[in-house]
Amino acid sequence: MSKRVVLIGHPVAHSLSGAMQQAAFDAAGIDAIYELWDRTSLQLPDAIAQVRDDEYLGANVTIPHKERVVPLIDRSTEDAVATGAINTITREGRRLVGHNTDVPGFEAALDKLVGRQKMPRQAVVLGAGGGARAVVHGLIREGFLRIVVFNRHLHRAEGLVRHFAKSAAHMELKAMPWHESIIESELAKTKILVNATSIGLTADVSPIPAEILPSGLLVLDLIYNRTRFLRDAEAAGSTVMDGETMLLHQGAAAFTLWTGQAAPLEVMAAALAEARAGGLRSAEGEPAGEEAATSAAG
Ligand code: NDP
Repeated sequence: MSKRVVLIGHPVAHSLSGAMQQAAFDAAGIDAIYELWDRTSLQLPDAIAQVRDDEYLGANVTIPHKERVVPLIDRSTEDAVATGAINTITREGRRLVGHNTDVPGFEAALDKLVGRQKMPRQAVVLGAGGGARAVVHGLIREGFLRIVVFNRHLHRAEGLVRHFAKSAAHMELKAMPWHESIIESELAKTKILVNATSIGLTADVSPIPAEILPSGLLVLDLIYNRTRFLRDAEAAGSTVMDGETMLLHQGAAAFTLWTGQAAPLEVMAAALAEARAGGLRSAEGEPAGEEAATSAAG
């Protein structure tokens, strides 16, 4: 009988992960089916209980359940504990293990963005949600010495800083209020700029005005499109990358956790490109109903 892997989120209909993971299973000759489960928070405990059965290799978890799922899991790995969020589940018998592959996904994207240059030590991060936590954890692990986090609701950025207090004790991790003049002055002191807000996901708008973008930055947007933010940054003379590399590598890391095999990266990248060309978007950040709105508002 085929094994099953499920993506649990709300909504999930537009997910890119299905196409990417199914192509990977098929290419690797693994008899497994990747299913999309749209489940509300109330349905989440039942969905997680089901995944304990033998027929499941594991699961992915996406918006809005990445944090809510933590207490339902038996053991969390370092990335999941550090970020307080789980996006991948594996099984050890009937016990479930929670992982956060957004962290290695971000690290792979950062490495590619930096290329042959020396890894910078300063970064500005816009946003303080689940994606931003994976970014900040990755930056701390890469040895960054100064990270400034800006968020619309300052208290959420402050909460993020408190969350990382221990792992960031040796360096400077600061939350700052969202004022354009302060962002501008921080951008003058940094090399890496990451957009981890969902601004630009559903409308052609940028989190910050083009005029305050200096030249020569390395700029990453977690959103999987060529957003206005990236177009502005490129026009200002920066090197830019969208969220597809992070998505691909978080998926590859999950595939390896479920199967114990190296992921067929090229196959997954091709399936991702095809799904995108067909108009699919990831479930990540797809706003849907009250629950997603609450999650986005913090
Ligand atoms: P969350 O809902 O946890 O966080 C959303 C963030 O966006 C918060 O910082 C929020 O600020 C900010 N925000 C949203 N709307 C506005 C607005 N109108 N004005 C100012 N700030 C706003 O989402 P995630 O962190 O999970 O995801 C963020 C983005 O990253 C999404 O676009 C998602 O698609 C992408 N992502 C991509 C991944 C990849 O693999 N490439 C992986 C994970 C995420 P506030 O706290 O003030 O509300």
